[in-house]
Amino acid sequence: MNIWVATKNAHKVEEISKILAPIVVKSFFDLNNPPDVEENGASYEENALLKARALFEIVKEPVMADDSGLEVDALNGAPGIYSARFAGTPVDHNKNINKLLEDLKELPSEKRTARFRCVIVYIDATGKSHEFSGTLEGIIANKRTGKAGFGYDPVFWLPKNNCSVAELTDIEKNTISHRSRALQKFIKFIKG
Ligand code: IMP
Repeated sequence: MNIWVATKNAHKVEEISKILAPIVVKSFFDLNNPPDVEENGASYEENALLKARALFEIVKEPVMADDSGLEVDALNGAPGIYSARFAGTPVDHNKNINKLLEDLKELPSEKRTARFRCVIVYIDATGKSHEFSGTLEGIIANKRTGKAGFGYDPVFWLPKNNCSVAELTDIEKNTISHRSRALQKFIKFIKG
């Protein structure tokens, strides 16, 4: 059995391939003309489904796609599905963090609660869709620490670990992250 992953992110393909082995994972990289999917849905679920459907229509085999983002309570859940483009386009993680720190300036730590959320949509061989989600709770620090990871990791503080996500090793991040939690639920469903 093949599972296709609707992503152009080689790192995600590698991570998912390792976890799903011996299932063969294929991706946009295996297509001559990968679809250019506009992520214009109103939710993570809609965006993941748009990507998964576009690929399913081409390959007619099981497909999964994910969508994720950062939700800050003091910003009523923003940036959410707009996390990558929070400070505008082209995507610039450094500018996104600057904007976030500016928006939360002078807010005390108890009001800086936030979470990363990931939603995976899986379309099975019959075309039926299934959803799996995972979250990672934390608070937005008032300065960057750590060099690992990507995106908002340097300012996403984990009180239990007493460090930012960017101070975790890949393995540590992969055991607690929103993406790995959603992926674990998906794997349980696939492998039974
Ligand atoms: P994607 O849907 O996985 O491409 O994530 C969309 C955006 O959410 C990213 O560009 C980041 O800004 C943010 N994001 C998602 N997951 C993470 C994470 O694990 N660490 C930091 N930022 C993340």
